Amino acid sequence: TVTDNSPWPKLEPALAKDPEIEKRIAAQLAKMTLEEKVGQLIQAEIKYATPEDVKNYHLGSILNGGGTYPNNDKFAKPEDWLALAEAYHRASMDTSDGGVAIPVLWGSDAVHGHNNVIGATLFPHNIGLGATRDPQLIRRIGEATAREVAVTGIDWTFAPTVAVVRDDRWGRTFESYSEDPKIVREYARAMVEGIQGEKSSAEFLGGEKLISATKHFIGDGGTDRGMDRGDTPASEEELAEIHAAGYIAALEAGVQTVMASFNSWKGVRLHGHKYLLTDVLKGRLGFDGFVVGDWNGHRFVEGCTLESCPQAINAGLDMFMVPSDWKALYENTLAQAKSGEIPTSRIDDAVTRILRVKMRAGLFERNKPLAGATGILGSPEHRAIAREAVRKSLVLLKNNGQLLPLNPKQKILVAGDGADNIAKQSGGWTISWQGTGNSQADFPGATSIYAGIKTAVESAGGEAVLSVDGEFSVDTFTDAERPDVAVVVFGEDPYAEWHGDITSLEYQFGTKTDLALLKKLKAQGIPVVSIFISGRPLWVNKELNASDAFVAAWLPGSEGAGVADVILTDADGKIRHDFTGKLSFSWPLLVDQTPLNLGDDDYDPLFAYGYGLTYSDKVEIASDLTEQGESYAEGRLEDAWMMVWRPRAPWNLVLLDEGSAPIEVEGNVAESSDGNIRVSAIDMRNQEDARLVQWAGLRPGGVALRAGKPQDMSRYLESGGTLSLKLRLDEEPRGEVRASVGCGDDCT
Ligand code: BGC
Repeated sequence: TVTDNSPWPKLEPALAKDPEIEKRIAAQLAKMTLEEKVGQLIQAEIKYATPEDVKNYHLGSILNGGGTYPNNDKFAKPEDWLALAEAYHRASMDTSDGGVAIPVLWGSDAVHGHNNVIGATLFPHNIGLGATRDPQLIRRIGEATAREVAVTGIDWTFAPTVAVVRDDRWGRTFESYSEDPKIVREYARAMVEGIQGEKSSAEFLGGEKLISATKHFIGDGGTDRGMDRGDTPASEEELAEIHAAGYIAALEAGVQTVMASFNSWKGVRLHGHKYLLTDVLKGRLGFDGFVVGDWNGHRFVEGCTLESCPQAINAGLDMFMVPSDWKALYENTLAQAKSGEIPTSRIDDAVTRILRVKMRAGLFERNKPLAGATGILGSPEHRAIAREAVRKSLVLLKNNGQLLPLNPKQKILVAGDGADNIAKQSGGWTISWQGTGNSQADFPGATSIYAGIKTAVESAGGEAVLSVDGEFSVDTFTDAERPDVAVVVFGEDPYAEWHGDITSLEYQFGTKTDLALLKKLKAQGIPVVSIFISGRPLWVNKELNASDAFVAAWLPGSEGAGVADVILTDADGKIRHDFTGKLSFSWPLLVDQTPLNLGDDDYDPLFAYGYGLTYSDKVEIASDLTEQGESYAEGRLEDAWMMVWRPRAPWNLVLLDEGSAPIEVEGNVAESSDGNIRVSAIDMRNQEDARLVQWAGLRPGGVALRAGKPQDMSRYLESGGTLSLKLRLDEEPRGEVRASVGCGDDCT
């Protein structure tokens, strides 16, 4: 239980209990069979559960994961989504078999707009919003997102993420507003109020609003070395004062659902953490909505499997997110409820909470005035908000010689693989889980950064020339071709969960030719403006040295024209919009400066938290920032963590170093206890995107080791000898597993 001197604030429930609703819940509960109750605790994915299933099992909820479209053409149009939502709803209300009618709740990851649906407005990802320092804007984005989602008949969004990221090596850093709990607190409130409406207003949880799932409770941004789904070693004070900031604000704003996190706190998985879920969240913090699990996250709980986890329900989880294996989990949970392993009181409490949320949100009445109003999706009003957000999210890091703003009445070369690439500028959680490839067809109505510049330049009588894929070579400008200035758009390719984890802050996941391009332009005396697309601050000293001006553009989304709005003046040379964005994350000076947060004893960033130039600043950034990070490509690997990908014997092992030229060490690994490398395993066998696995350097059917804290492993590489690793696995490895190590191409 929570003691009096605990660091958690004591909160009252945000909403007074509505006696009418509580009466309806009790009446409903009294009518329900145990089967119907257990069905409410299950959330399945739409690929794996038909409307028939929803009816027969009384499933409480369904979700769509990323990639619904383009994997399935039935989701090309918003009308297709709505039709399916209607079908699920009807099935849940069908009482022809004598069962209860309880509306099914559909949840979706609308995390930067309704990002699974073609044609939706894509707002900048949270890290960019963090730089805007504008909670009112965040609220408007929440409102616009709710309206776009409501068009498709979906009830619930798994947003906002209120992680307070303390180590930017985490691949989900871009989903976080800030390293600073103060910003996260303010934004969480604004976003929840935007999504759900203000709790005292008539529109609260009404037809134009959604239910918010604030996530991932708790400590997801505080894992050791920024490892996705890792362990958070924070003290209880740090948990309460740093990582809980967003939850406290969201709860005060009346958030109705909270998603449990994959991570553990001091070794205990959150999905099974009774103290944090029940005593703290539902007790001390007064939460009377329900806790949903994260994608199969219950299986990490000690003693649990994918198909059985009474521990999670007993700890306070109210709904399992169990996309594909829901039937087995349903059967086992039912048996555990019958045997008393899960007490009836706990089942009733969970169902009560789920019904409370469904009733509060008017699901029984299915009040969806915007359903089918497809003109709202990607509407000019919403795109204008997104464009404003892009303008405000840009952070000017360097502007030597006051190169910016650019006059549009000149010849501007726009180069780099991010220049005309909406998928890249939108990042992960865009159409698919990890972000789509290059298909511009997926983004009707969107504007690339190049397109925005071209429009502005041409309307002012200048010329914008695009060179993304070598239409003409920047080596051989003729006098007629030679541009006055170059804008180079480059940066990280899209990624999402754990695919984006890195071991140092060195810029990677880009084309790797960006630096050469910058240097070529500079060598010819062409002034260079870099527009850097990224999901986090990265060590880009080399790229900074090769640029005269450098803009952190984060992941701006569908309205690339916001960049031109700021970097180009009007035809008369007048500034249209100055830079206002300020860093909400500290920017590293050194490649291994992790973690790096305002308030650290040895805080020494390149650009401090809060930094951001404007056009009136005359700051010159040294053009010889240290480039020492290169040594990292020379055989230094780090102590490691491990992911298992559908293991089959013999396993493959790929060691990735933290440099831009990876040393790959392949072989089979012996499970041995004499290794001097700390390894912990995360079982990833239920993740499915083999394409991306290869992209990340992992092998389907294989095992990948990723580096963590520096440790010299060159002797292993030199000897080509046996590498012993201590493995901690969730399951016994199958087949023979032995080690042999060799070098990849770049290994010396
Ligand atoms: C992510 C969540 C997301 C869920 C549903 C999980 O893998 O961690 O943030 O809401 O999937 O797509």
